[in-house]
Parts: sequence; structure tokens; C-alpha cells
Amino acid sequence: MSATKPRRLVSADSRLENLERHVQALMAELHHARYEQRREALTDALTGLGNRLALVDAFVKAQQATAEGALPPALLLLDLDGFRALKNSAGHAAADQVLITVAMRIRSAVRENDVVTRLGADEFAVLLPATPQSRATAVGNRILAALEPNIDLGNNSVRCGVSVGLRTAEPHHTIEDLLQEADLAMEESKNEGRNKLKVFDPATLHARLLQRQIVGELRDAIRSDQLVLYYQPIVELATGRIEGCEALVRWKHPVHGLIMPDQFIPVAEATGLIAELGRWVLRAAVGQLRSWRDAPATAHQDFSMRINVSAADLQSLEFVDDVSEALAEKGLAPESLVLELTESAIIHNNELDRYTLASLHRLGVGLEIDDFGAGYSSMGYLRKLPVDRVKVDRQFVQDLGKDPSQLDFLAAIQQVIRSCGLEGTWEGIETAEQAAALRSIDCASGQGYYFGRPLPEAEFTDQLARLRTWPA
Ligand code: C2E
Ligand code: MG
Ligand code: MG
Repeated sequence: MSATKPRRLVSADSRLENLERHVQALMAELHHARYEQRREALTDALTGLGNRLALVDAFVKAQQATAEGALPPALLLLDLDGFRALKNSAGHAAADQVLITVAMRIRSAVRENDVVTRLGADEFAVLLPATPQSRATAVGNRILAALEPNIDLGNNSVRCGVSVGLRTAEPHHTIEDLLQEADLAMEESKNEGRNKLKVFDPATLHARLLQRQIVGELRDAIRSDQLVLYYQPIVELATGRIEGCEALVRWKHPVHGLIMPDQFIPVAEATGLIAELGRWVLRAAVGQLRSWRDAPATAHQDFSMRINVSAADLQSLEFVDDVSEALAEKGLAPESLVLELTESAIIHNNELDRYTLASLHRLGVGLEIDDFGAGYSSMGYLRKLPVDRVKVDRQFVQDLGKDPSQLDFLAAIQQVIRSCGLEGTWEGIETAEQAAALRSIDCASGQGYYFGRPLPEAEFTDQLARLRTWPA
């Protein structure tokens, strides 16, 4: 018997084989098309790196592996320093070239299975599967080094710094959590002078969340009159006469009680809320001065109100108008208001500062440098700026008595102030001896717990009525 199959069966088999091959080819094509489609969906068109979807994809896989016992993945988030400025100066095409070069350099600094993606204009993320923090730090530093050399743009070359945040994933993390925390670390790097790697720190997150909460509450506090002003007397040292007072803001928090300015002014300054807060203080202080002037036997006619002004106020175009309107509304002369500016508020000395200061000076309000000597202490600007007073930082008075030469030192400061044609107020006087010492070197005015602590309105009004002159 022949072993060959009957003809009919052979042809049926080969037809089937053909069909199988055809189906397989179709399947492969479909697969490829799907793969291409997916690859495109996961690719950043400009740089050829992965995009956000690719990052999500890689993260999900890495977290699955972690659940099965692998090490958790680490995320490096990178943001180019000064990219917008570069784009504005060098143009779009050059900016694209920079992004492409940066992408290549990052790619070449990491391993094949690390997932490099571009998330936004100049934001990159690298997911390192199963990577401990120490190794991720080393990779991050390698990327920083790779980006160090200038990038050639044909007719010129640029240096592009990058700030890097690192966060290792926790089992409960979603990609959003991981990105947010890496972003926080990256921002820290920017704050600390850029071009470095920062590892996520839970304390920073806590501080940030607290700040966010405070900002929200503070905004409501300004609008719902939870802020209050306390007043502290300023005394003419030679006569003991109360010249005026400084308004110091406090926050009457419904849960936490009285909060001191040191705890919320910096937050207000960092978040721009300071402008609104400053307007509130200005209106409240000027209104209070009007009430005292109107009440018999409280403030004399040249009693002045001092308020603290922040750097942001000097940068605001409306500030001068706000001040002049507030005074005009209450029928008060500009001289009755003194604005206290810290050295750090004026030290920028940019166009806007100079414009605002000159306008305030023209308006006729008093301008005083606060906490003089606490910071930069450049004597030069005492003469250059249109200020008329200086409030000397309390550390100088508090060192009185500790060192016998301190009084000579204070006398020298006093002489500088006077030779600049300014009036000096001495802050932080806590004892009769300190007041007497300052009087002995002809200091003009003083402020401190010895003369009176900051008091709420009603108590300060009582004090004014009782003590129009401080017993010397
Ligand atoms: P500052 O303007 O230098 O105000 C003086 C601070 O020293 C006040 O603290 C005051 O209570 C305190 N002080 C007064 N006399 C003495 C003393 O004899 N000994 C000691 N150890 N301290 C004394 P406060 O009220 O906590 O204010 C702190 C800072 O907060 C102020 O320093 C000022 O820079 C800022 N601040 C207060 N109110 C405002 C405001 O309305 N706006 C702005 N932008 N800042 C404000
Ligand atoms: Mg002050
Ligand atoms: Mg001060």
C-alpha cells in the first residue's frame, strides 16, 4: 500500500495551511498596526520619548511588579531652568532643538528599561523600575552631569540647567501622588538655587499642606474681620510725650486663638495675600486714628500712626492711591501716617520701588526704615532713599548693659542717623536704664515694653487717656 495521502486530502490540508498562514499574516499586521497605534499614542512627537500615557503605563506595570515582590519604582521629575526666557530670546525652533538635545542626553544617561518621558513643555519624567533611592539619586546626578555641557544651536550655544525632584513610590501611591510629591521636591530644588537634585521630604509636604490651609483661612479672616490691630506707643525720649503708635496686626483665629504676625505675614507674603492684608491694615489704622482724633482727651493733633508695609506693597502700582484715598476719606493729613519699611523690603531698589517711594514721599507721608541694622545694614542707602526716619533694630538696645562699649557704638549709630538728616526711633526698650542711656546720647524716640506692650484698641485708648505723657 502506498503511504501517500489521497489527493483530495492533501489539497484540503494545504488549503488549510495557506489559510492559516494568511490569517497569521493578517494577525501580525493587525498586531503591528495596533502596536504602532499604541506606540504613537505613547510617544511624544517632538522628542520621540514617551509621553504622560507611557509614564502611567510604566508606573502601573512597576507597581504590579512591586506587589509581586520587586523593589518599588523611583520617579525623577525634571524641569528645565529658565526655559521660557530661552524660548523668548532664542525663538521656537531653537527651543525645540534644546528639548530634543535634552531628551537625547537624558536617554543616554539611563538604562534601557528606564522609561524616559516628556510631560509638558520643558518637563521630563524618568521612571526607574525596581530602583532603591540611593541608585535613583546616582542616576539623577548622572542626568545633571549629562546636561552640564552647552547645547549647540548652530550660530550660538546655550547652557540649560535643570531642577530635579526624586520620589520613590509607596505601595499606596497613585501616579498622581507620585508626580505631586516629586514635583514638591523639584520645587525645593528650584527654591534652593536650581540645577540640583532634591529628594522628597515628608516634612516639606506637611508644611506645604499647612500653608495651603492657612492661606485659605487667612483669606476668609481678612474678609470676615478676624484680623485685629494692637497698638504700641512711641515716646519722645527727652519729654516722655507719646508721639504716636505702631499698629501691629494679629489674627483672632476662631480655633487657635490669637496668632502673632510672625506666623502668618510670611505666608501672606509668599502667596500674594499680603496686598489684601495690607489694604485692610491701612484702612483699619487710618480709621482708628480718625476716631482717636475725634474723641476728646485721647490723641493730640500731631499724634501719628505707623503701619508696617511689605515689599509687595512697594511693587503695587495702586499702593500710593490706596494710601492717599484712605487718608483723604478720613480727612487726615499725610504727615499723620508713617510707613515702616524693612531693609529687605527696599533693598530690591528697582524702578517700581523707587517710583512708589518717590510718590509716597511727594504725597507727604512719613517713610521710616524699620529694623535698621538687622539685615544688610548698608549705610549708603540712608542718604539715597527718600526716607525721613530710621527705626533701629531692637538687638542694639538689648545688648546695652552687656558690654560697656555698647553705648559708644549706639552713639555712633545715632550720629550717622543724624548726619543723614534723619530722625531715629529706638526699638525694644525694656528697662528704665535702657531708656535713660538712650536719652543720654540724645536719641529722639523710643518704643518697647518699658513704655507699653502692644495693646488692643480699647486698652490702648484707656492708656492714651491716662498717660498723654510718659513719666520720665
Ligand atoms: P516690627 O515692625 O519690628 O514690630 C515690632 C515687634 O517687636 C512687634 O512684634 C512688637 O510686639 C515687638 N516689640 C515691641 N517692643 C518690644 C520689646 O521691648 N521687646 C521685645 N522683645 N519685643 C518688642 P509683633 O507684633 O509680633 O510683630 C512682629 C513683626 O510682624 C513686626 O515687626 C512687623 O515686621 C510684622 N508686622 C506686624 N504687623 C504687620 C502688618 O500689619 N503688616 C506687615 N506687613 N507686617 C506686620
Ligand atoms: Mg514695625
Ligand atoms: Mg521693627
